[in-house]
Amino acid sequence: MTATVIDGKAFAESVREKVAGHVARLKDAHGITPGLAVVLVGEDPASEVYVAAKHKQTVEVGMASFEHKLPADVSEADLFALIDRLNADPAVHGILCQFPVPDHLDERAVVARIDPAKDVDGLSVVNAGLLASGEKGLVSCTPLGCLMLLRDRIADMSGMEAVVVGRSNLFGKPMAQLLLQQNCTVTIAHSRTRDLAAVCQRADILVAAVGRAGMVKAEWVKPGATVIDVGITRVPHPDKPGKTQLLGDVDFAGAREVAGAITPVPGGVGPMTIACLLANTLTACCRAHGLPEPEGLTV
Ligand code: NAP
Repeated sequence: MTATVIDGKAFAESVREKVAGHVARLKDAHGITPGLAVVLVGEDPASEVYVAAKHKQTVEVGMASFEHKLPADVSEADLFALIDRLNADPAVHGILCQFPVPDHLDERAVVARIDPAKDVDGLSVVNAGLLASGEKGLVSCTPLGCLMLLRDRIADMSGMEAVVVGRSNLFGKPMAQLLLQQNCTVTIAHSRTRDLAAVCQRADILVAAVGRAGMVKAEWVKPGATVIDVGITRVPHPDKPGKTQLLGDVDFAGAREVAGAITPVPGGVGPMTIACLLANTLTACCRAHGLPEPEGLTV
């Protein structure tokens, strides 16, 4: 069997189109423009690239983008004062602080300062708790993106065996909660899991989020399974000196001969993350104004 390769880039484009359509209707019907504020502390080059991409895509879907760049030595008090202003600003529906932040700042405290209704990264304990309780909150962007890809491919996940490798608060735990909501039988595997190969082999849905290139071998994949590869490892390019390439957690070439469907790296899960950030900002905006939520863009 040769697996269908799931085109995350095209799917993310379709999500952005849906968001843009909804934003246009919000403007026309209600005079409301959803707004996303991004806070960047310091000058980490990778973070600057991410923030620039977020700004560009936010503007492209017709939303307002507010960028706040703070010096690397900003005090916690000054950062919190900015977050408080954004929490109180009715033009801002979503707030995210780009991580990592410098060591003197506590990421958990930063997330906790953001109003949970504007926490479009879905990282706060309030939003994690709402997800775990099956109540409406804002869901972490990458797991939400993976769920969208899965829902597009599998009409009914009920009763399926789902294995999530990785248990981070950012990805593994919310992904497992989302699959549980879909009535999957969910296993969360991690670095202490015994016989990871056997655990993965029973998965109808296998989600790998570890950060170890090629760790998941073709023999670990159940024939016909849907494989979602979240891992990203940057390595020197074998053929292009001085260049790098991105590798996923799954041995793509081997696994695609066994799986029913598989996401590539790059071009699979990655593009979904910012698309879901925009979807979450739209959702937060609709909720703030008591308007119906966009269909298919939230859980
Ligand atoms: P993380 O916080 O480092 O978590 C990694 C998880 O992998 C941990 O739960 C760890 O287990 C587990 N693990 C480590 N070694 C293992 C092994 N040998 N066998 C089984 N499990 C093992 O990372 P993360 O933030 O969740 O991200 C995971 C990967 O996804 C990274 O490559 C990251 O770059 C990527 N990612 C991509 C996107 C995107 O595409 N936009 C977004 C988020 C993350 P323990 O808990 O036991 O240590």
